[in-house]
Amino acid sequence: MSITSNLNSIKASLPANVTLVAVSKTKPVLDLMQAYEAGQRIFGENKIQEMADKWEEMPKDIQWHMIGHVQTNKVKYMAPFVSLIHGVDSLKLLQEINKQALKNNRIIDCLLQIHIAEEETKFGLDENELNSLLSSTEFKEMKNIRILGLMGMATFTENQNQIKKEFKHLKSIFDSIQQNKDTQLYAAIDNFSIISMGMSGDYQLAIECGSTMVRIGSSIFGGR
Ligand SMILES: *Cc1c(COP(=O)(O)O)cnc(C)c1O
Repeated sequence: MSITSNLNSIKASLPANVTLVAVSKTKPVLDLMQAYEAGQRIFGENKIQEMADKWEEMPKDIQWHMIGHVQTNKVKYMAPFVSLIHGVDSLKLLQEINKQALKNNRIIDCLLQIHIAEEETKFGLDENELNSLLSSTEFKEMKNIRILGLMGMATFTENQNQIKKEFKHLKSIFDSIQQNKDTQLYAAIDNFSIISMGMSGDYQLAIECGSTMVRIGSSIFGGR
């Protein structure tokens, strides 16, 4: 199967309200260009340097999503161009993104990463940390970031029930923020609409559970 046909069949299977992020980490620009020629404009990378190199080389109408863990000291390298940062998991990181966005005279869109998996190794906030971040004065004072939604990764397991439970958990956290976003508690959130969950192995399940953004790599570009 070619990248073009993989991409087209995945796109055809997605509901209209679900956005596809083509995860192109480790893949060469030639492969990304095949997806680009087939109409794909949103690409996801997990290393800032690699993303910056590809951004320089490729057409400028691409939206670059940072889907990996972000080190605070590297935010400056993507601040001029990044379109959405999925993995924001601390106030400190958000403050650095805000600072670099201001320097570049832009507003940078972010998702907060929630820890939904059983594994200890996966990054993300728990519900208490999420609530205290969103209700903090520091958060409300930041003018150069927007929180557009949440991101999560399920446990790496064959157990579909486990994965489903974790996706539903993320969806329920999302719903409770949405319902309360006009109250004092979360006064600073507008445009809260994205649930980024689902990868090659579990995106159909993620969509059933309410995902609005899937991050698909190997099913488009092949194994890494
Ligand atoms: C690599 C990666 C993906 C894509 O994984 P595939 O299984 O290749 O679809 C999605 N999300 C994150 C955070 C990743 O690092």
